[in-house]
Amino acid sequence: PPARASAVRDAFLSFFRDRHGHRLVPSASVRPRGDPSLLFVNAGMNQFKPIFLGTVDPRSEMAGFRRVANSQKCVRAGGRHNDLEDVGRDLSHHTFFEMLGNWAFGGEYFKEEACSMAWELLTQVYGIPEDRLWVSYFGGDPKAGLDPDLEIRDIWLSLGVPASRVLSFGPQENFWEMGDTGPCGPCTEIHYDLAGVVGAPQLVELWNLVFMQHNREADGRLQPLPQRHVDTGMGLERLVAVLQGRCSTYDTDLFSPLLSAIHRGCRVPPYLGRVGVADEDRVDTAYRVVADHIRTLSVCIADGIFPGMSGAPLVLRRILRRAVRFSTEVLQAPPGFLGSLVPVVVETLGDAYPELQKNSAQIASLVTEDEAAFLASLQRGRRIIERTLKRLGPSDAFPAEVAWSLSLSGNLGLPLDLVQLMLEEKGVQLDSAGLEQLAQEEAQHRAQQADPVQERGLRLDVHALGELQRRGVPPTDDSPKYNYSLQ
Ligand code: ATP
Ligand code: MG
Ligand code: MG
Ligand code: MG
Repeated sequence: PPARASAVRDAFLSFFRDRHGHRLVPSASVRPRGDPSLLFVNAGMNQFKPIFLGTVDPRSEMAGFRRVANSQKCVRAGGRHNDLEDVGRDLSHHTFFEMLGNWAFGGEYFKEEACSMAWELLTQVYGIPEDRLWVSYFGGDPKAGLDPDLEIRDIWLSLGVPASRVLSFGPQENFWEMGDTGPCGPCTEIHYDLAGVVGAPQLVELWNLVFMQHNREADGRLQPLPQRHVDTGMGLERLVAVLQGRCSTYDTDLFSPLLSAIHRGCRVPPYLGRVGVADEDRVDTAYRVVADHIRTLSVCIADGIFPGMSGAPLVLRRILRRAVRFSTEVLQAPPGFLGSLVPVVVETLGDAYPELQKNSAQIASLVTEDEAAFLASLQRGRRIIERTLKRLGPSDAFPAEVAWSLSLSGNLGLPLDLVQLMLEEKGVQLDSAGLEQLAQEEAQHRAQQADPVQERGLRLDVHALGELQRRGVPPTDDSPKYNYSLQ
Protein backbone atom coordinates (compact mmCIF):
# COMPACT_ATOMS: atom_id res chain seq x y z
CA PRO A 1 0.00 0.00 0.00
CA PRO A 2 1.20 3.57 -0.62
CA ALA A 3 3.03 5.11 2.34
CA ARG A 4 0.91 7.32 4.56
CA ALA A 5 1.97 10.95 4.96
CA SER A 6 3.10 10.44 8.55
CA ALA A 7 5.35 7.55 7.46
CA VAL A 8 6.80 9.68 4.64
CA ARG A 9 7.59 12.48 7.09
CA ASP A 10 9.14 10.04 9.58
CA ALA A 11 11.21 8.35 6.89
CA PHE A 12 12.73 11.69 5.89
CA LEU A 13 13.69 12.54 9.44
CA SER A 14 15.10 9.14 10.32
CA PHE A 15 17.07 8.98 7.06
CA PHE A 16 18.95 12.14 7.97
CA ARG A 17 19.29 11.24 11.64
CA ASP A 18 20.21 7.58 11.40
CA ARG A 19 22.06 7.30 8.11
CA HIS A 20 23.70 10.71 7.98
CA GLY A 21 24.11 11.87 11.56
CA HIS A 22 21.75 14.88 11.59
CA ARG A 23 20.25 16.28 14.74
CA LEU A 24 16.46 16.63 14.55
CA VAL A 25 15.07 20.00 15.60
CA PRO A 26 11.41 20.91 16.08
CA SER A 27 9.52 23.11 13.66
CA ALA A 28 9.64 26.77 14.59
CA SER A 29 6.36 28.65 15.06
CA VAL A 30 4.92 30.12 11.84
CA ARG A 31 5.07 33.48 13.58
CA PRO A 32 8.49 34.98 12.82
CA ARG A 33 10.50 35.79 15.91
CA GLY A 34 12.21 39.14 15.73
CA ASP A 35 12.39 39.28 11.94
CA PRO A 36 10.48 42.23 10.50
CA SER A 37 11.46 41.15 6.97
CA LEU A 38 8.90 38.34 7.17
CA LEU A 39 5.09 38.18 7.60
CA PHE A 40 5.07 34.42 8.14
CA VAL A 41 7.74 31.77 8.36
CA ASN A 42 8.06 30.77 4.71
CA ALA A 43 10.89 28.21 4.72
CA GLY A 44 12.72 25.82 6.99
CA MET A 45 15.81 28.01 6.94
CA ASN A 46 14.14 31.02 8.58
CA GLN A 47 14.93 29.94 12.12
CA PHE A 48 18.59 29.46 11.19
CA LYS A 49 19.05 32.92 9.71
CA PRO A 50 21.45 33.96 12.53
CA ILE A 51 23.69 31.03 11.66
CA PHE A 52 23.81 32.05 8.00
CA LEU A 53 24.48 35.68 8.86
CA GLY A 54 27.10 34.71 11.41
CA THR A 55 25.25 36.52 14.20
CA VAL A 56 24.27 33.50 16.29
CA ASP A 57 24.87 33.86 20.02
CA PRO A 58 27.87 31.59 20.69
CA ARG A 59 26.32 30.51 24.02
CA SER A 60 23.09 29.38 22.40
CA GLU A 61 22.30 25.80 21.49
CA MET A 62 22.13 26.84 17.86
CA ALA A 63 25.82 27.74 17.89
CA GLY A 64 26.56 24.02 18.11
CA PHE A 65 24.43 23.05 15.11
CA ARG A 66 26.38 21.37 12.30
CA ARG A 67 23.96 18.95 10.60
CA VAL A 68 20.26 19.31 11.34
CA ALA A 69 16.99 18.22 9.79
CA ASN A 70 13.34 18.99 10.44
CA SER A 71 9.84 19.33 9.15
CA GLN A 72 8.89 23.01 9.21
CA LYS A 73 5.42 24.54 9.15
CA CYS A 74 5.44 27.18 6.39
CA VAL A 75 2.93 29.80 5.30
CA ARG A 76 3.27 31.49 1.91
CA ALA A 77 0.53 34.08 1.84
CA GLY A 78 2.38 37.39 1.87
CA GLY A 79 5.66 39.08 1.11
CA ARG A 80 8.14 37.67 -1.38
CA HIS A 81 6.69 34.15 -1.26
CA ASN A 82 2.95 34.57 -1.71
CA ASP A 83 0.98 31.69 -3.20
CA LEU A 84 -2.45 32.76 -1.99
CA GLU A 85 -3.77 33.46 -5.48
CA ASP A 86 -2.72 30.04 -6.77
CA VAL A 87 -4.56 28.16 -4.06
CA GLY A 88 -7.68 26.54 -5.43
CA ARG A 89 -6.54 27.05 -8.99
CA ASP A 90 -3.75 24.49 -9.11
CA LEU A 91 -2.98 21.12 -7.58
CA SER A 92 0.37 21.83 -5.94
CA HIS A 93 0.42 25.18 -4.09
CA HIS A 94 -0.88 25.71 -0.57
CA THR A 95 -0.91 28.66 1.77
CA PHE A 96 0.20 26.29 4.54
CA PHE A 97 2.53 23.40 3.78
CA GLU A 98 5.20 21.37 5.50
CA MET A 99 8.77 21.75 4.33
CA LEU A 100 11.11 18.84 4.97
CA GLY A 101 14.66 20.10 5.19
CA ASN A 102 18.25 19.24 5.96
CA TRP A 103 21.10 21.64 6.66
CA ALA A 104 24.85 21.57 6.83
CA PHE A 105 26.29 24.66 8.46
CA GLY A 106 29.72 26.21 7.96
CA GLY A 107 30.85 23.77 5.28
CA GLU A 108 30.07 20.63 7.35
CA TYR A 109 29.24 19.20 3.92
CA PHE A 110 28.48 20.94 0.66
CA LYS A 111 27.17 20.34 -2.84
CA GLU A 112 28.34 16.80 -3.54
CA GLU A 113 27.10 15.27 -0.30
CA ALA A 114 23.85 17.25 -0.36
CA CYS A 115 23.00 16.02 -3.85
CA SER A 116 23.99 12.44 -3.21
CA MET A 117 21.97 12.28 0.03
CA ALA A 118 18.91 13.69 -1.71
CA TRP A 119 19.29 11.25 -4.59
CA GLU A 120 19.77 8.31 -2.22
CA LEU A 121 16.65 9.22 -0.24
CA LEU A 122 14.40 9.71 -3.25
CA THR A 123 15.49 6.73 -5.30
CA GLN A 124 16.53 4.16 -2.67
CA VAL A 125 14.45 4.92 0.42
CA TYR A 126 11.30 6.21 -1.25
CA GLY A 127 11.86 4.12 -4.38
CA ILE A 128 11.06 6.82 -6.93
CA PRO A 129 12.12 5.61 -10.41
CA GLU A 130 15.22 7.54 -11.49
CA ASP A 131 13.87 8.13 -14.98
CA ARG A 132 10.99 10.20 -13.59
CA LEU A 133 13.36 12.70 -11.94
CA TRP A 134 14.71 15.84 -13.61
CA VAL A 135 17.14 18.34 -12.11
CA SER A 136 17.83 22.01 -12.70
CA TYR A 137 20.83 24.14 -11.79
CA PHE A 138 21.82 27.81 -11.77
CA GLY A 139 22.86 28.97 -15.24
CA GLY A 140 24.44 32.19 -13.97
CA ASP A 141 23.45 35.83 -13.98
CA PRO A 142 25.88 38.01 -15.97
CA LYS A 143 24.17 41.21 -14.76
CA ALA A 144 24.90 40.33 -11.14
CA GLY A 145 28.32 38.93 -11.99
CA LEU A 146 27.33 35.39 -10.98
CA ASP A 147 28.78 32.40 -12.86
CA PRO A 148 26.87 29.28 -13.92
CA ASP A 149 27.10 26.50 -11.35
CA LEU A 150 28.79 23.92 -13.58
CA GLU A 151 30.06 22.05 -10.53
CA ILE A 152 26.48 21.04 -9.73
CA ARG A 153 25.91 19.91 -13.28
CA ASP A 154 28.91 17.57 -13.04
CA ILE A 155 27.69 16.24 -9.71
CA TRP A 156 24.31 15.25 -11.16
CA LEU A 157 25.97 13.66 -14.21
CA SER A 158 28.25 11.68 -11.92
CA LEU A 159 25.20 10.48 -9.94
CA GLY A 160 23.90 9.02 -13.19
CA VAL A 161 21.36 11.62 -14.28
CA PRO A 162 21.51 11.83 -18.10
CA ALA A 163 22.44 15.25 -19.53
CA SER A 164 19.02 15.45 -21.22
CA ARG A 165 17.39 15.71 -17.79
CA VAL A 166 19.84 18.24 -16.32
CA LEU A 167 18.58 21.71 -17.22
CA SER A 168 19.94 25.16 -16.49
CA PHE A 169 17.82 28.18 -15.55
CA GLY A 170 18.35 31.80 -14.62
CA PRO A 171 18.11 33.59 -11.27
CA GLN A 172 14.29 33.61 -11.30
CA GLU A 173 14.21 29.83 -10.90
CA ASN A 174 17.57 28.83 -9.53
CA PHE A 175 18.74 31.56 -7.21
CA TRP A 176 16.82 31.29 -3.96
CA GLU A 177 16.10 34.24 -1.65
CA MET A 178 14.07 34.19 1.56
CA GLY A 179 12.81 37.75 1.24
CA ASP A 180 13.73 41.11 -0.22
CA THR A 181 16.71 40.99 2.07
CA GLY A 182 18.49 38.10 3.77
CA PRO A 183 20.55 35.01 3.03
CA CYS A 184 20.45 33.66 -0.53
CA GLY A 185 22.37 31.62 -3.01
CA PRO A 186 22.32 29.50 -6.15
CA CYS A 187 20.18 26.39 -5.96
CA THR A 188 19.58 23.11 -7.70
CA GLU A 189 16.12 21.62 -7.85
CA ILE A 190 14.75 18.12 -8.26
CA HIS A 191 11.53 17.83 -10.23
CA TYR A 192 9.25 14.84 -10.75
CA ASP A 193 7.59 13.96 -14.03
CA LEU A 194 3.95 13.25 -13.21
CA ALA A 195 3.13 12.04 -16.72
CA GLY A 196 5.95 9.60 -17.40
CA VAL A 197 5.36 9.97 -21.13
CA VAL A 198 8.54 10.20 -23.22
CA GLY A 199 8.80 13.60 -24.88
CA ALA A 200 5.99 15.15 -22.83
CA PRO A 201 7.11 15.45 -19.22
CA GLN A 202 4.76 17.15 -16.79
CA LEU A 203 7.05 18.41 -14.06
CA VAL A 204 6.31 19.31 -10.48
CA GLU A 205 9.04 20.77 -8.30
CA LEU A 206 9.82 18.54 -5.35
CA TRP A 207 13.03 19.56 -3.64
CA ASN A 208 15.21 22.63 -3.64
CA LEU A 209 18.85 22.42 -2.53
CA VAL A 210 20.22 25.89 -1.84
CA PHE A 211 23.88 26.73 -1.38
CA MET A 212 23.85 29.76 0.88
CA GLN A 213 26.73 32.06 0.05
CA HIS A 214 25.39 35.63 -0.05
CA ASN A 215 23.29 38.08 1.89
CA ARG A 216 20.96 40.40 -0.02
CA GLU A 217 21.39 43.84 1.58
CA ALA A 218 18.68 46.49 1.84
CA ASP A 219 20.26 48.36 -1.11
CA GLY A 220 19.91 45.23 -3.25
CA ARG A 221 23.58 44.35 -3.32
CA LEU A 222 24.94 40.88 -2.58
CA GLN A 223 27.47 40.51 0.21
CA PRO A 224 29.36 37.28 0.77
CA LEU A 225 28.36 35.37 3.93
CA PRO A 226 31.10 34.58 6.43
CA GLN A 227 30.67 30.84 5.70
CA ARG A 228 28.96 28.56 3.20
CA HIS A 229 25.96 26.42 4.08
CA VAL A 230 23.60 23.83 2.64
CA ASP A 231 19.89 24.59 3.02
CA THR A 232 17.31 22.27 1.50
CA GLY A 233 13.54 22.18 1.41
CA MET A 234 11.06 19.66 0.01
CA GLY A 235 7.29 20.01 0.12
CA LEU A 236 5.81 17.10 2.07
CA GLU A 237 2.42 17.33 0.34
CA ARG A 238 3.99 17.03 -3.12
CA LEU A 239 6.26 14.17 -2.07
CA VAL A 240 3.31 12.31 -0.56
CA ALA A 241 1.29 12.80 -3.76
CA VAL A 242 4.14 11.30 -5.80
CA LEU A 243 4.52 8.35 -3.44
CA GLN A 244 0.77 7.75 -3.37
CA GLY A 245 0.73 7.78 -7.19
CA ARG A 246 -1.30 10.98 -7.45
CA CYS A 247 -0.98 14.12 -9.57
CA SER A 248 -2.51 16.33 -6.91
CA THR A 249 -1.57 17.11 -3.33
CA TYR A 250 -5.30 17.12 -2.53
CA ASP A 251 -5.58 13.42 -3.46
CA THR A 252 -3.50 12.35 -0.46
CA ASP A 253 -4.29 11.37 3.11
CA LEU A 254 -3.25 14.90 4.18
CA PHE A 255 -6.34 16.33 2.48
CA SER A 256 -8.82 13.52 1.84
CA PRO A 257 -10.30 13.57 5.40
CA LEU A 258 -10.97 17.29 4.93
CA LEU A 259 -12.51 16.81 1.50
CA SER A 260 -14.77 14.05 2.87
CA ALA A 261 -15.79 16.24 5.80
CA ILE A 262 -16.69 19.03 3.38
CA HIS A 263 -18.72 16.57 1.31
CA ARG A 264 -20.57 15.33 4.41
CA GLY A 265 -21.16 18.81 5.81
CA CYS A 266 -22.32 20.64 2.67
CA ARG A 267 -24.94 19.91 0.07
CA VAL A 268 -22.52 19.30 -2.81
CA PRO A 269 -21.40 16.33 -4.92
CA PRO A 270 -18.12 14.65 -3.92
CA TYR A 271 -14.77 16.21 -4.83
CA LEU A 272 -13.85 15.41 -8.44
CA GLY A 273 -10.53 17.23 -8.75
CA ARG A 274 -11.53 19.39 -11.72
CA VAL A 275 -9.44 22.50 -12.43
CA GLY A 276 -9.75 25.60 -14.61
CA VAL A 277 -12.60 25.74 -17.11
CA ALA A 278 -13.47 22.10 -16.41
CA ASP A 279 -14.53 23.21 -12.94
CA GLU A 280 -17.31 25.36 -14.34
CA ASP A 281 -19.40 25.54 -11.14
CA ARG A 282 -16.22 26.16 -9.10
CA VAL A 283 -17.18 23.43 -6.65
CA ASP A 284 -13.82 21.66 -6.79
CA THR A 285 -11.99 24.98 -6.53
CA ALA A 286 -14.05 25.74 -3.43
CA TYR A 287 -13.24 22.33 -1.95
CA ARG A 288 -9.53 23.09 -2.38
CA VAL A 289 -9.71 26.64 -1.06
CA VAL A 290 -11.64 25.62 2.04
CA ALA A 291 -9.44 22.60 2.78
CA ASP A 292 -6.28 24.64 2.31
CA HIS A 293 -7.41 27.70 4.24
CA ILE A 294 -8.70 25.86 7.29
CA ARG A 295 -5.27 24.23 7.69
CA THR A 296 -3.59 27.65 7.48
CA LEU A 297 -6.05 29.21 9.91
CA SER A 298 -5.60 26.37 12.39
CA VAL A 299 -1.81 26.40 12.27
CA CYS A 300 -1.56 30.19 12.50
CA ILE A 301 -4.02 30.50 15.38
CA ALA A 302 -2.26 27.68 17.24
CA ASP A 303 0.96 29.69 16.89
CA GLY A 304 -0.64 32.91 18.12
CA ILE A 305 -1.45 34.73 14.87
CA PHE A 306 -5.11 35.73 15.08
CA PRO A 307 -7.21 37.28 12.31
CA GLY A 308 -6.86 41.03 12.75
CA MET A 309 -6.25 44.45 11.36
CA SER A 310 -2.72 44.65 10.00
CA GLY A 311 0.28 42.67 8.92
CA ALA A 312 0.04 38.89 9.18
CA PRO A 313 -3.26 39.06 11.14
CA LEU A 314 -4.83 41.04 8.30
CA VAL A 315 -3.67 38.43 5.80
CA LEU A 316 -5.17 35.76 8.03
CA ARG A 317 -8.46 37.64 8.18
CA ARG A 318 -8.52 37.74 4.37
CA ILE A 319 -7.86 34.00 4.28
CA LEU A 320 -10.73 33.41 6.68
CA ARG A 321 -13.10 35.55 4.66
CA ARG A 322 -12.08 33.87 1.43
CA ALA A 323 -12.80 30.49 3.03
CA VAL A 324 -16.18 31.71 4.31
CA ARG A 325 -17.19 33.02 0.90
CA PHE A 326 -16.21 29.86 -0.95
CA SER A 327 -17.85 27.62 1.64
CA THR A 328 -21.12 29.51 1.95
CA GLU A 329 -21.54 30.82 -1.59
CA VAL A 330 -20.25 27.87 -3.63
CA LEU A 331 -20.64 24.92 -1.27
CA GLN A 332 -23.78 26.12 0.56
CA ALA A 333 -22.11 25.32 3.87
CA PRO A 334 -24.26 25.80 6.96
CA PRO A 335 -23.28 28.47 9.52
CA GLY A 336 -20.44 27.34 11.77
CA PHE A 337 -19.14 24.95 9.15
CA LEU A 338 -15.54 26.17 8.98
CA GLY A 339 -15.01 25.77 12.70
CA SER A 340 -16.32 22.20 12.47
CA LEU A 341 -13.36 21.34 10.21
CA VAL A 342 -10.78 22.23 12.86
CA PRO A 343 -10.92 18.78 14.54
CA VAL A 344 -10.27 17.19 11.14
CA VAL A 345 -7.14 19.34 10.72
CA VAL A 346 -6.05 18.36 14.22
CA GLU A 347 -6.60 14.69 13.36
CA THR A 348 -4.31 14.88 10.32
CA LEU A 349 -1.60 17.19 11.69
CA GLY A 350 -1.89 17.02 15.46
CA ASP A 351 0.56 14.16 15.98
CA ALA A 352 3.32 16.02 14.14
CA TYR A 353 2.46 19.42 15.67
CA PRO A 354 1.02 18.94 19.19
CA GLU A 355 0.32 22.68 19.59
CA LEU A 356 -2.68 22.01 17.32
CA GLN A 357 -4.07 19.41 19.72
CA LYS A 358 -3.48 21.66 22.68
CA ASN A 359 -5.35 24.61 21.18
CA SER A 360 -7.99 22.75 19.21
CA ALA A 361 -11.05 24.12 21.03
CA GLN A 362 -9.77 27.70 21.05
CA ILE A 363 -9.02 27.55 17.32
CA ALA A 364 -12.48 26.21 16.49
CA SER A 365 -14.31 28.84 18.54
CA LEU A 366 -12.24 31.69 17.13
CA VAL A 367 -12.91 30.54 13.57
CA THR A 368 -16.62 30.17 14.33
CA GLU A 369 -16.86 33.63 15.90
CA ASP A 370 -15.05 35.31 13.01
CA GLU A 371 -17.11 33.43 10.47
CA ALA A 372 -20.33 34.56 12.18
CA ALA A 373 -19.16 38.17 12.35
CA PHE A 374 -18.29 38.20 8.66
CA LEU A 375 -21.58 36.55 7.64
CA ALA A 376 -23.50 39.11 9.69
CA SER A 377 -21.62 41.94 7.99
CA LEU A 378 -22.37 40.42 4.60
CA GLN A 379 -26.05 40.18 5.40
CA ARG A 380 -26.24 43.74 6.66
CA GLY A 381 -24.33 44.86 3.58
CA ARG A 382 -26.84 43.14 1.30
CA ARG A 383 -29.73 44.82 3.12
CA ILE A 384 -28.13 48.26 2.83
CA ILE A 385 -27.55 47.65 -0.88
CA GLU A 386 -31.21 46.60 -1.35
CA ARG A 387 -32.45 49.69 0.47
CA THR A 388 -30.20 51.96 -1.56
CA LEU A 389 -31.28 50.37 -4.83
CA LYS A 390 -34.92 51.15 -4.04
CA ARG A 391 -34.26 54.86 -4.16
CA LEU A 392 -32.23 54.76 -7.40
CA GLY A 393 -33.50 55.40 -10.90
CA PRO A 394 -33.03 52.61 -13.48
CA SER A 395 -29.92 54.14 -15.02
CA ASP A 396 -28.38 55.56 -11.82
CA ALA A 397 -24.99 54.35 -10.69
CA PHE A 398 -24.68 53.05 -7.14
CA PRO A 399 -23.58 55.96 -4.92
CA ALA A 400 -19.93 55.93 -4.01
CA GLU A 401 -20.55 57.15 -0.44
CA VAL A 402 -22.66 54.10 0.37
CA ALA A 403 -20.13 51.67 -1.11
CA TRP A 404 -17.38 53.46 0.77
CA SER A 405 -19.25 53.34 4.06
CA LEU A 406 -19.81 49.58 3.67
CA SER A 407 -16.09 49.16 3.35
CA LEU A 408 -15.07 51.27 6.32
CA SER A 409 -13.92 49.22 9.26
CA GLY A 410 -16.02 51.35 11.57
CA ASN A 411 -19.08 50.14 9.69
CA LEU A 412 -19.06 46.74 8.02
CA GLY A 413 -15.47 46.46 6.85
CA LEU A 414 -16.41 44.60 3.68
CA PRO A 415 -13.59 44.54 1.14
CA LEU A 416 -14.36 46.93 -1.72
CA ASP A 417 -13.95 44.24 -4.37
CA LEU A 418 -16.60 42.24 -2.54
CA VAL A 419 -18.97 45.22 -2.47
CA GLN A 420 -18.37 45.53 -6.18
CA LEU A 421 -19.21 41.85 -6.71
CA MET A 422 -22.40 42.14 -4.67
CA LEU A 423 -23.44 45.05 -6.89
CA GLU A 424 -22.57 43.14 -10.06
CA GLU A 425 -24.85 40.33 -8.87
CA LYS A 426 -27.63 42.91 -8.77
CA GLY A 427 -26.69 44.20 -12.20
CA VAL A 428 -25.85 47.69 -10.87
CA GLN A 429 -22.95 49.89 -11.85
CA LEU A 430 -20.86 51.44 -9.13
CA ASP A 431 -19.80 55.08 -9.34
CA SER A 432 -16.14 54.07 -9.45
CA ALA A 433 -14.80 57.54 -10.22
CA GLY A 434 -16.61 58.85 -7.13
CA LEU A 435 -15.27 55.96 -5.08
CA GLU A 436 -11.73 56.56 -6.24
CA GLN A 437 -12.06 60.19 -5.25
CA LEU A 438 -13.39 59.30 -1.80
CA ALA A 439 -10.50 56.91 -1.29
CA GLN A 440 -8.03 59.61 -2.26
CA GLU A 441 -9.60 62.25 -0.05
CA GLU A 442 -9.63 59.83 2.84
CA ALA A 443 -6.00 58.95 2.28
CA GLN A 444 -4.98 62.61 2.15
CA HIS A 445 -7.01 63.38 5.20
CA ARG A 446 -5.39 60.56 7.15
CA ALA A 447 -1.85 61.34 6.18
CA GLN A 448 -1.42 65.04 6.72
CA GLN A 449 2.22 65.07 7.55
CA ALA A 450 4.94 63.94 5.20
CA ASP A 451 4.42 60.25 4.82
CA PRO A 452 7.04 57.83 3.51
CA VAL A 453 4.33 55.60 2.06
CA GLN A 454 2.69 58.38 0.07
CA GLU A 455 5.97 59.86 -1.01
CA ARG A 456 6.78 56.57 -2.65
CA GLY A 457 3.44 56.53 -4.45
CA LEU A 458 2.18 53.50 -2.53
CA ARG A 459 -1.39 52.84 -1.52
CA LEU A 460 -2.53 53.13 2.04
CA ASP A 461 -4.48 50.44 3.80
CA VAL A 462 -7.22 52.94 4.58
CA HIS A 463 -9.64 50.37 5.97
CA ALA A 464 -7.32 49.14 8.62
CA LEU A 465 -6.19 52.67 9.34
CA GLY A 466 -9.79 53.80 9.79
CA GLU A 467 -10.38 51.01 12.27
CA LEU A 468 -7.35 52.02 14.29
CA GLN A 469 -8.44 55.65 14.36
CA ARG A 470 -11.93 54.59 15.40
CA ARG A 471 -10.42 52.74 18.31
CA GLY A 472 -8.18 55.69 19.12
CA VAL A 473 -4.96 53.74 18.58
CA PRO A 474 -2.12 56.16 17.83
CA PRO A 475 -0.10 55.30 14.72
CA THR A 476 3.27 53.63 15.19
CA ASP A 477 5.75 52.20 12.74
CA ASP A 478 3.78 49.03 13.02
CA SER A 479 0.40 50.42 12.11
CA PRO A 480 -1.33 49.51 8.86
CA LYS A 481 -0.35 52.79 7.32
CA TYR A 482 2.92 51.07 6.62
CA ASN A 483 1.33 47.88 5.44
CA TYR A 484 1.27 48.95 1.85
CA SER A 485 2.63 45.68 0.55
CA LEU A 486 -0.57 43.88 1.46
CA GLN A 487 -2.91 45.86 -0.74
P1 ATP B 1 7.16 26.55 -6.92
O1 ATP B 1 8.09 26.90 -8.04
O2 ATP B 1 6.40 25.27 -7.15
O3 ATP B 1 6.27 27.69 -6.53
P2 ATP B 1 9.21 27.30 -5.10
O4 ATP B 1 10.36 27.28 -6.04
O5 ATP B 1 8.57 28.61 -4.86
O6 ATP B 1 8.06 26.25 -5.63
P3 ATP B 1 10.93 26.77 -2.87
O7 ATP B 1 10.99 28.13 -2.30
O8 ATP B 1 12.08 26.29 -3.66
O9 ATP B 1 9.56 26.61 -3.72
O10 ATP B 1 10.56 25.76 -1.68
C1 ATP B 1 11.05 24.43 -1.55
C2 ATP B 1 9.97 23.39 -1.79
O11 ATP B 1 8.78 23.65 -1.04
C3 ATP B 1 9.48 23.31 -3.22
O12 ATP B 1 10.35 22.57 -4.00
C4 ATP B 1 8.12 22.66 -3.07
O13 ATP B 1 8.23 21.24 -2.98
C5 ATP B 1 7.64 23.17 -1.74
N1 ATP B 1 6.69 24.28 -1.90
C6 ATP B 1 6.99 25.57 -2.21
N2 ATP B 1 5.90 26.34 -2.21
C7 ATP B 1 4.87 25.51 -1.89
C8 ATP B 1 3.48 25.73 -1.70
N3 ATP B 1 2.93 26.93 -1.84
N4 ATP B 1 2.71 24.66 -1.37
C9 ATP B 1 3.25 23.43 -1.22
N5 ATP B 1 4.56 23.18 -1.37
C10 ATP B 1 5.36 24.20 -1.70
MG1 MG C 1 6.84 29.39 -5.51
MG1 MG D 1 10.19 26.97 -8.17
MG1 MG E 1 12.17 26.27 -5.77
